[in-house]
Amino acid sequence: MLPPYNERPAHCLLRRETRSSERMNRVRVLLLNAALGPLDYRVPQGSHAEPGSIVLAPLGPRQEVGVVWDPEALETQEVPDERLRPLLHVYDMPPLRPALRRLIEWTADYYLAPIGAVLRMTLPSSSALDGARTVTEYRATGKVPERLTPQREQALERIGERQGLVRELALAADVSDGVIRGLVKAGAIEAVEVSIDDPFPRPHPDFHPPRLETAQRTAARGFITAVQGAEFAPFLLDGVTGSGKTEVYFEAVAEAIRMGRQTLVLLPEIALTEPFLKRFTARFGCEPVAWHSGLRQSQRRRAWRAIATGDAKVVVGARSSLFLPYRDLGLIVVDEAHETSFKQEEGVQYHARDVAVMRAKLEKVPVILASATPAIETRQMAEIGVYREVRLPARFGGAQMPDIAAIDLIRDPPPRGRWLAPSLVREMEANLERGEQTLLFLNRRGYAPLTLCRACGHRFQCPNCTAWMVEHRLVHRLACHHCGHMMPPPRMCPECQEVDSLVPVGPGVERIADEVAALFPDARTAIVTSDTIWSPAKAAEFVGRMEAGAIDIVIGTQLVTKGYHFPNLTLVGVVDADLGLSGGDLRAAERSFQQISQVSGRAGRGAKAGRVLVQTHEPSARVISALVSGDAEGFYEAETDARREAAMPPFGRLAGIIVSSEDLAEATETARLIGRTAPKVENMAVFGPAPAPLAMLRGRHRQRLLVHAARSLDVQDVIRTWLGSLDWPRGVRVAVDVDPYSFL
Ligand code: ADP
Ligand code: ZN
Repeated sequence: MLPPYNERPAHCLLRRETRSSERMNRVRVLLLNAALGPLDYRVPQGSHAEPGSIVLAPLGPRQEVGVVWDPEALETQEVPDERLRPLLHVYDMPPLRPALRRLIEWTADYYLAPIGAVLRMTLPSSSALDGARTVTEYRATGKVPERLTPQREQALERIGERQGLVRELALAADVSDGVIRGLVKAGAIEAVEVSIDDPFPRPHPDFHPPRLETAQRTAARGFITAVQGAEFAPFLLDGVTGSGKTEVYFEAVAEAIRMGRQTLVLLPEIALTEPFLKRFTARFGCEPVAWHSGLRQSQRRRAWRAIATGDAKVVVGARSSLFLPYRDLGLIVVDEAHETSFKQEEGVQYHARDVAVMRAKLEKVPVILASATPAIETRQMAEIGVYREVRLPARFGGAQMPDIAAIDLIRDPPPRGRWLAPSLVREMEANLERGEQTLLFLNRRGYAPLTLCRACGHRFQCPNCTAWMVEHRLVHRLACHHCGHMMPPPRMCPECQEVDSLVPVGPGVERIADEVAALFPDARTAIVTSDTIWSPAKAAEFVGRMEAGAIDIVIGTQLVTKGYHFPNLTLVGVVDADLGLSGGDLRAAERSFQQISQVSGRAGRGAKAGRVLVQTHEPSARVISALVSGDAEGFYEAETDARREAAMPPFGRLAGIIVSSEDLAEATETARLIGRTAPKVENMAVFGPAPAPLAMLRGRHRQRLLVHAARSLDVQDVIRTWLGSLDWPRGVRVAVDVDPYSFL
């Protein structure tokens, strides 16, 4: 397989088009094929193709979709004119605009990805290209045919204003199909093309605008001016949870709609789409166009075409909506911009937040990064004045920020085999009596993270991954959270054959739900994880039950930490605040702080005050004390200083190199080869190789190297040259993760 590094960067390949290309009408085409570079084709006479045109090209015996590219941007092997094959078809769609073509080139360059793989995110469904899906219907023109037979007369009379297929008209007129066809030939009946791709409703900018508070109004005004200015303008909208960030950026969306331009709102998870759609509808009178992996093929096609033609005015989507061919983008919003799920970990490993800023720059439009807990990277950009920071320091409507207190699990431990401390249980009880809702947060799906045999200590491990099998009692399975491998929990230990000897170790949300049921048998509970809320419809159902007061206690993973607004939810319990800190990667403390702040932000969003109890073994840890004292600034400053001192991002740069193979020796040898040939470059250090913490994943052995470099170094260029000079066995995969978030 071709390693991606063989593709040289676009910017160093500037070349002039040859003269023969003009004569021949030669075009350079980028196919939706990650293994191929660009190829030249001939535009057949009578066709027109320009850079950006979407085309169908022959490739060997096959046909592939591609896009005509700027010949000066991508070099290819010169093929003599006479050997050029003609394009098969030029699709009748607007060409991809230059800003998008530059974005695709930039993404491929920056993330060291094959450009064809990036392009595939722009054109994810070739069925969307087959012209507008229309049917041909027929109707009378009012013209009387020269030869008017009695049958024709009867037909025209009975058809009247009717429109339909030939067959339908023939039936209505009680004549044969031939009579109708004859009338078409004679000009008395005409064909009309009818689109079955229903247009999307237009959001109304002034459907139901809120009355903004002073700070909100000032923020909104800045955004509106930027949208009108139609220039690149990056904003950090930094507002506490419940401050009305959404309402404020909606004003910018409204302005873009007024100007007839398109807006993209990026959300970190599909699960958040549902509450967003509801709020959007309340504000703008109809739903926006949604784009995410859960769409059916026909929905995807309809959305893609509406985006490409400019008909879709507001698109809300997961990270993949970033590469779509918007006809006239006027604004980008990244909501919950600190979320690490914006980082794509498979295929093209890009960070949607960063690519969103780049797209805004290339499109010359404003981009708003909204967050209550901005990433250190983003805060730093605001600090040095690259991003304009807009603050909303208080909750809307005078709602108070919740009180956060720590529960010291050493001094106030839960009873044996339980996970909720007595003081938390007492608060839950009082909350139940008041008829208010409680949320328990534990970022662990399933019943127990580890299952072992009581008799021999055997632990159940995934056969494909370096990971424990996690018990899921609701579905009666052991599951691997990395590869999805499942098995029924065996009755007998495979090691010592002891029967009924398996014991769960540690809690997951299902086990906490059991504990809650034992403590409060009458309470109505709900478990919210990706196992229970796996579709927008499920999310809608959950929201409905919460709003109707049909749930007393929610036990959830990070899925419930953001986006939701339940005024009667007044108590949040964090079951294990130490969990996120154990991984010990670069961002562990920051991520814990963000997660607990976000989940705390669900408490007391309405008239009633909120309380948050954080269970921890280490109440004096910096993260916990910052949360309890509300000293976010102090926490961020200390974290930022530590990063600066260690020259870690954003003050330095990292790139992970992951070498994997089904063959352990091949993986190890290739990783060693890469390590051995590491170039000696100033301001750059290479660590490893070493077995990855996830030493095996989906049956592949994994080795890691980590490149640490100064910000000023073009580390991609170094890696490209370095890896481009090496060869490895076919079964080995070498993936580069630029600006990594996962260190597993
Ligand atoms: P954030 O995104 O900052 O957490 P939201 O935008 O979700 O905050 O606002 C919190 C709640 O307050 C929502 O129910 C929202 O509709 C409401 N809200 C915020 N600002 C206003 C306003 N100016 N008028 C009416 N309701 C508002
Ligand atoms: Zn697995």
